[in-house]
Amino acid sequence: MDRIIAIDVERMIDGRGGPPVERALVLIEGDRIIAAGPAEHVKVPDGASRISLGPRTLLPGLIDAHVHLKGWRSANPNDILITPHPLAALRAAADCRKLLQAGFTTVRDCGSSLGPHLRDAIVAKEIPGPRILTSYRGLSQTGRVETVTWAVDTTPLRQHADGIDECRRVVREQIGLGADLIKVSITGRVYAPQSDPGQTAYTLEEIRAVVDEAHRMGRRVAAHAQATQGIKNGILAGVDSIEHGIYLDEEACQWMRERDTALVPTLAYFHRIAALGEGQGSPAYAVRKAHEVVEAHMKSFALALRMGIRIGMGTDFEGSPLFPHGENGVELELMVQGGMSERDVIVAATATNAAILGIQQKVGTIEAGKAADLIAVPGNPVENIGVLRDAEFVMQGGRVASSRIPEVKESSL
Ligand SMILES: [Zn+2]
Repeated sequence: MDRIIAIDVERMIDGRGGPPVERALVLIEGDRIIAAGPAEHVKVPDGASRISLGPRTLLPGLIDAHVHLKGWRSANPNDILITPHPLAALRAAADCRKLLQAGFTTVRDCGSSLGPHLRDAIVAKEIPGPRILTSYRGLSQTGRVETVTWAVDTTPLRQHADGIDECRRVVREQIGLGADLIKVSITGRVYAPQSDPGQTAYTLEEIRAVVDEAHRMGRRVAAHAQATQGIKNGILAGVDSIEHGIYLDEEACQWMRERDTALVPTLAYFHRIAALGEGQGSPAYAVRKAHEVVEAHMKSFALALRMGIRIGMGTDFEGSPLFPHGENGVELELMVQGGMSERDVIVAATATNAAILGIQQKVGTIEAGKAADLIAVPGNPVENIGVLRDAEFVMQGGRVASSRIPEVKESSL
């Protein structure tokens, strides 16, 4: 029989949206939670070991539903061309450790060539890091994303695919190469000189082919979608989540609600390019376009809130000082500033994100049967969401992955 651990803590927020539980107790056997609730209702078996977290709040491990595990250290995408691939891989491994220490026990990698390898090394307990679901390389139509002419063959940042047949083939190929989900870019973007966020990319028929092929193979589809018409094409084609959603309108929101399409807004991404991009070496086109979209994006977020869309939490961070892994919690603060209650923001980053990833049976809430992925923060995040950036204790699958509490020791990998 696995050892039983009993965690006691002043307050617990279980991720289901209800009021916090004061003086809570959680029992863990092996890598699973076997009981959780008010201390007086949970009986601790003889011989259980104790972890006392004191005046803190215990929550489910956080989930970032939109990252890129590229190991980038520069805001200028062309710098990847002078970065040896093994070095980028080592940096991405370091980012995985930072994410876990910051309380992100699960992430969805929406495009990187390293994702499947990092995932497998973490599952094998060779390096510390979050549970990873990865799209491997995202699909993009030719000509809409950054490419450097001479390097296009040596640094495939994304996987180009055009036309219905090729879209189907590339979806199959990505899955064969280890993709857990499919990422497809269906509009223009801020971070590319050749396209604008207000432009569509891919035809409705091409997106339908991507979705059909992915769904037949049991994979979800996350769509980079910023332009209104592109967002609508994605919803009609049946994508599972709209990423960014800069230019939403009421009709798009209505369709999303009817079809239960999720929104992952990534507010911090555009805010940071607009505020910090220039000093961090972002290309001028990206800074200009970020300034153009920030306000519209916040308006779309407010509209999505009013219309009752299912909203998850994601950052689009990739590891550079402009988008640093480990500081992903900044997104939670922007969501509160955008009008979402602290309690709902916590649900977005836990239970809702687990559902968006399709792993709600395993993670996302503190309940019997779920993986023992837990974090503790000082104070009460419902009163101050900022404390979620200060995870002092991180448990992953019943193992103490990180602890800044002197009495609580970390366990080895
Ligand atoms: Zn992205």
